Amino acid sequence: MQNVRRLPEGSGRNPWLELANNRDHKFAPLSELKESFDYVIIGAGFGGISAAARLSSLKPGASIAVIDAFKVGFYSSGRNAGFISKAQIAKAMVGIDRFTFDDQKWLLRLNNIVVDRIEQTIKDHDLKVEYRRDGMYKAVREDRNVKVLDELASFFDKLGVKYEHLGQSDLPARLGTSFYKAALYLDETILDNPAELIRGLATALPANVRVFENVPVIGVTGGAQPEITLADGQVIKTSRVILTVNSFIKEFAVADGHTANVTAIHSFAGLTRPLNDSELKDFAGVKPWGITATHPAGATLRFTPQKRIFVRTDIAFATYPNINPERLHKAERLLRRAFVRRFPKLEHVDFEYTYGGLISFTANSQSLFGEVGQNVYAGTTAAGWGVTNAAILGNFLADLIAGEDSEELRYIKDNYHPSYLPPEPLRTVGARGALWLKDLTAGSEV
Ligand SMILES: Cc1cc2nc3c(=O)[nH]c(=O)nc-3n(C[C@H](O)[C@H](O)[C@H](O)COP(=O)(O)OP(=O)(O)OC[C@H]3O[C@@H](n4cnc5c(N)ncnc54)[C@H](O)[C@@H]3O)c2cc1C
Repeated sequence: MQNVRRLPEGSGRNPWLELANNRDHKFAPLSELKESFDYVIIGAGFGGISAAARLSSLKPGASIAVIDAFKVGFYSSGRNAGFISKAQIAKAMVGIDRFTFDDQKWLLRLNNIVVDRIEQTIKDHDLKVEYRRDGMYKAVREDRNVKVLDELASFFDKLGVKYEHLGQSDLPARLGTSFYKAALYLDETILDNPAELIRGLATALPANVRVFENVPVIGVTGGAQPEITLADGQVIKTSRVILTVNSFIKEFAVADGHTANVTAIHSFAGLTRPLNDSELKDFAGVKPWGITATHPAGATLRFTPQKRIFVRTDIAFATYPNINPERLHKAERLLRRAFVRRFPKLEHVDFEYTYGGLISFTANSQSLFGEVGQNVYAGTTAAGWGVTNAAILGNFLADLIAGEDSEELRYIKDNYHPSYLPPEPLRTVGARGALWLKDLTAGSEV
């Protein structure tokens, strides 16, 4: 039965997948797509792959299929900025105070669990993926944001998160640019090639999990025995379905009634070619780094181990999940501006890749988690700290299905409830207004 209203589309070129050393890894052949699996996971991002890893360890005898419309690493989990941090607490990421201090402690605890599991998998399987503890600078340019940084530092102190406080004169030698006025450096933050990492984690799944790429799902029905319909008409029967499809959850009719308060934004990124020796003069002794802003509309940047500069900026409300090419074109101008502001001497260096991606969010930054139809479960992230968020959802959806009770699962069940968002067209009008205001107050941080 066809009841998925819209399928995901790509936007631009995803450099991380094109540059990933495991991009040509062959997952399961389509001939292995049997008529039934014990569990079917739709969506092979950090949500889906984490669900598969955890479910297979809790149910080693079960047959599990992970199905994605694209190659693993093509969509958001493989086209993000590559920051993974146990300290990706809500306040640090977007400067919001919606969460209580206790919630922030819970977030740290949950992040620790999933990041430790990712690291254990990398170690156990000796995965050759770019996953480096290069650290993150929370850096500010505008004077008014220096105060925000100080507040964040006191917050980190309360939570026991370690950081190094750096002033304007410290930064050029660390970053290769004199653009920023102050920063907190969190050395535990991982910077990765996200596509290489998610593909690597998918290759480490045990033999009872089969991963199928380039298989769009066009229908899901719940019930005592749920059914999944593939684009070629094949139907797969299962006992439980897990939907880890980002905000495409809204396109799955089976989840209607649960998704009213889930929405999404688009953000955009560019990656330069590798800089040459003369372009690297200001980078003598500079190690690869990542920068995120304290302002929610601020830009994210990286200086990669391959000596490329990565920029992510520009946020647009995603009334529809797919990005049209004109919108990406507009974003390219803002990406250039952000790059040249910080590296005026590199104005002649073009982006080799530009692209857009989808980030699911909710008004209260609480994820959608749980059963959305009979024997159909879903997990949808709620903000920009999406990798750890998606991994938490995947891990604990597996626990929920396998009946693995824990304090963490109970916390998630009690708290992961998106708050009310007005329906369209009010939603888009309101969100555009809010984003416009954010851009306006972001000044040169964009
Ligand atoms: C530009 C950008 C930068 C970001 N930077 C960071 C960062 O540095 N750190 C961080 O933590 N987060 C970051 N994020 C957010 C993060 O990437 C996402 O929140 C996270 O990857 C979500 O994971 P997921 O598994 O929920 O969804 P996804 O990774 O989007 O996976 C969902 C999958 O579902 C599949 N799917 C959807 N519909 C169907 C269908 N009908 N049939 C079959 N398959 C389907 C899609 O193909 C997709 O692969 C960034 C996002 C963007 C766009």
